[in-house]
Amino acid sequence: MAGVYVHIPFCKKRCLYCDFFSTTCLERRKEYVAALLQEIIERKDETGEPVRTIYIGGGTPSTLDAADIQRIIDAIGTRQAEEITMEMNPGDADETYLRAIREAGINRLSIGIQSFDDTLLNRIGRRHTAQQALTAVKMAQEAGFDNLSIDLMYALPTQTMDQWKADIETALNLNVQHISSYGLMYEEGTAMTHMRDEGSITPIDEDTENAMYDRLCERLQQAGFVHYEVSNFALPCYEAKHNSSYWNGTPYVGVGAGAHSYIRNTRSWNREDLDTYIKGNNVRESETLTEKDLYNERIMLGLRTNQGIAGSFPKQSRSVIESKIQDGLLRETEDGRIVATQQGLHILNRIIEDLMI
Ligand code: SF4
Repeated sequence: MAGVYVHIPFCKKRCLYCDFFSTTCLERRKEYVAALLQEIIERKDETGEPVRTIYIGGGTPSTLDAADIQRIIDAIGTRQAEEITMEMNPGDADETYLRAIREAGINRLSIGIQSFDDTLLNRIGRRHTAQQALTAVKMAQEAGFDNLSIDLMYALPTQTMDQWKADIETALNLNVQHISSYGLMYEEGTAMTHMRDEGSITPIDEDTENAMYDRLCERLQQAGFVHYEVSNFALPCYEAKHNSSYWNGTPYVGVGAGAHSYIRNTRSWNREDLDTYIKGNNVRESETLTEKDLYNERIMLGLRTNQGIAGSFPKQSRSVIESKIQDGLLRETEDGRIVATQQGLHILNRIIEDLMI
């Protein structure tokens, strides 16, 4: 069973930390949707497998009319799709819209809340308020959504541990089924990185960031959430099916400017160029993964999950694994899987680098 990812590269306002491919030229949405429908028709059967999950992400998919969301889902064909997720900005939630996208087939919403503190939201350039976030979740529940995910961010400039604890408690009180949480990253070329470099904001120190992550993991697990991926937590049976397919090698077709696909050991990606895409001259590049690439992917993706990695390892990786186990960064489960410990999750990227060949 395969997945389809649909990229909607429009945002009403750019957040200061974001390096995703998106534009504020909202007037191009209709032309874009027309090009997107064309690509869907041409490519939806590319995996040769029935579609099990659809993920409409961005950008901000909730900048599209509900009728366009309906057209996109209809073009993919939903009969066998178990999970159809759409990302939503809390500022776009209203009752009519929520009911319309639910009727269009969306059965899972991912709401980009990030924080329940207006000062922090403003500092990172989000366009919504804490009250809008609370209202969006409530309205979505009233509209019949019973599979809701929210995004939260930590390690925001000036954020204190008390503020973070309060955000976690507010999130738990919302009765959502899934929480994704990321520490703020200073990506190259973003406004936030520029502000850091000129000294107008100071990043949170590494110890505080790690303590914030530990608090998140501890508190969410206490509340019954399964920590199934480094940044993702779900109530039992509510793990994101679409995202899980990225981690377990399920094929997926990515449509839209900048979208990535993975089919039979080949990765391909549409160029991040709105104009070319709208004109129907989309350029798609691809690479076929070698044995070495596939091994490195297995390490990179597997260690992010609570399933870890199994199977055989080259001799040099085995000795690195042994030394990481000694250092308390990795552990071996009874059935021979290698999984990151809580301490290991703090420096996961460094561990992955050491294990790659
Ligand atoms: S809404 Fe999302 S995609 Fe758009 S700028 Fe903000 S973080 Fe980036």
